[in-house]
Amino acid sequence: MSALNPGLLDRLAAAKLWLISARPVGARDGGPRGLAYLATALYALAPVPCHEVATTAVDEYWRIYLNPDWLATADVSQVGAELTHALWHLLHDHAARARDLRVDATSALSWHAAADAAISGTLEDSGLHPDGVPPPQTLGMPPGRSAEEYFALLSRLPAAAGPDGGRDDPPADPGCGSGCDGLPRGFELPADAAAVAHVDRFGATEIRRRVAIEYRQHVTSRGLTPGDVGRWSERILEPRVAWEPLLSRAVRRAVAWRNGNTEYTYRRPSRRAAATPRVVLPGTHRPLPGVAMVIDTSGSVDDALLGRALGEVDGALRGLGVSDAGVTVLACDAAVHAVKRVRRARDAALAGGGGTDLRHGISAAAALRPRPEMIVVFTDGYTPWPATPPPGSAVIAALLAREGQPMPATPAWVTRVECRL
Ligand SMILES: [Zn+2]
Repeated sequence: MSALNPGLLDRLAAAKLWLISARPVGARDGGPRGLAYLATALYALAPVPCHEVATTAVDEYWRIYLNPDWLATADVSQVGAELTHALWHLLHDHAARARDLRVDATSALSWHAAADAAISGTLEDSGLHPDGVPPPQTLGMPPGRSAEEYFALLSRLPAAAGPDGGRDDPPADPGCGSGCDGLPRGFELPADAAAVAHVDRFGATEIRRRVAIEYRQHVTSRGLTPGDVGRWSERILEPRVAWEPLLSRAVRRAVAWRNGNTEYTYRRPSRRAAATPRVVLPGTHRPLPGVAMVIDTSGSVDDALLGRALGEVDGALRGLGVSDAGVTVLACDAAVHAVKRVRRARDAALAGGGGTDLRHGISAAAALRPRPEMIVVFTDGYTPWPATPPPGSAVIAALLAREGQPMPATPAWVTRVECRL
């Protein structure tokens, strides 16, 4: 394998500069693109000459395979457009996403079309027009969707006839390379090929973060409206955590802990076992734990989120057999309005709607007899907290907020689960 000759490296360097240099006011259409936020990613690409691709292809390790004959004749805007096209496959991590969808040689063409449709808007907004990356509308699809959505739409179309290989074979057409679909091509270098630099997945994560941060600065300093790249940068910088399992786990853990890890044991036979020979029933050292829920009913709390979070806790408690014992629910804003023993948290009548001081709700919960082993507090977090934890009760705070809303701090003794809708 050879390197690109100096003349071709110069052409590549010129295309990168054309992409990242500032656009002068009143610049001609063909002038620099002003995409400085792409610089980190652009300079991470390792070029490899390759006659088996028509223009370019990219692998998962940020190596870009360029046809030297094409590079020798393409103008700077074409080279710039192809580089950016390849970069967006890597920045969007299309290879890993294709693997998640089990894209194989038979579906790789549809995935390519889907991934290209997803990035075509970004390329268009950047004033770039690589060949063979049509906007989704030309394929009869709506703009602004994700690669997965386009893939689903395209997969419903009759399959294009063509010579298809086995599941593990690379697709016949090199397309955009394994950097788009995770299927290594014959011409691609192994991950650890010593002759050419590569970016591993940790490096790639770091590059995505840098680009996302620089993109934000770019739109803020220019007063631009973030488009598709804005949503991408949000996902990179504020990854959404699926909070439902976290909340259930926190509830299950708190119950197990308060039970001294004896929630169910088969060592001490249940007395009922005598009546049901040959069936070993679990015995319990203690009755099922008491659970109190303190619900912040101040006006600021989102009902939809509260409903989902309550449902999640109900589900976790039911799974532990706790709901049968009943759960006490305290509706609280600046004062405790209702204390109710209910079978399901959702059955509690909620009152309130004023200011917030959940200290009253937490101390009322801690004063219940028998004392609840666990107190789950549902709140937007805009409340004073007690200075010390209630003795004998684990406290879980389910913090409720809409996407993009800030969440206030909670005391260190609280198990915090951030629930966003
Ligand atoms: Zn592509």
